[in-house]
Formats: sequence, structure tokens, C-alpha cells
Amino acid sequence: MNEVEVLPCADKLAFDSEKEAQDQARVIKWQRDIKLKAYKCRHCGLWHLSSNS
Ligand SMILES: [Zn+2]
Repeated sequence: MNEVEVLPCADKLAFDSEKEAQDQARVIKWQRDIKLKAYKCRHCGLWHLSSNS
């Protein structure tokens, strides 16, 4: 009866705010020329970055 629910996003970077996520996305864009999109996660309520276009 002690099931621990593992979030599907547990391995992803997480940010407290959209601004933080977008700042990080900009850094990655500069460093690696990869365009990332910030989105609010429905699992953990934090912000992640996605490369899905
Ligand atoms: Zn999440």
C-alpha cells in the first residue's frame, strides 16, 4: 500500500517560473543552437524545456 508515484518528468530540468525556463532556453540556444520551448508541466506544476516543435 506504499506505492510511490514516479513522475514521468523526474529526470528533466525543472524551473520554478516561466522566466527561469526561458532564460535557460536562451542560454542553450546560444551554446548549442538548439531551440527549446518552455512549458508548464501538468505532473509537477513546474516548468520544463521541450525541443519538440
Ligand atoms: Zn514535471
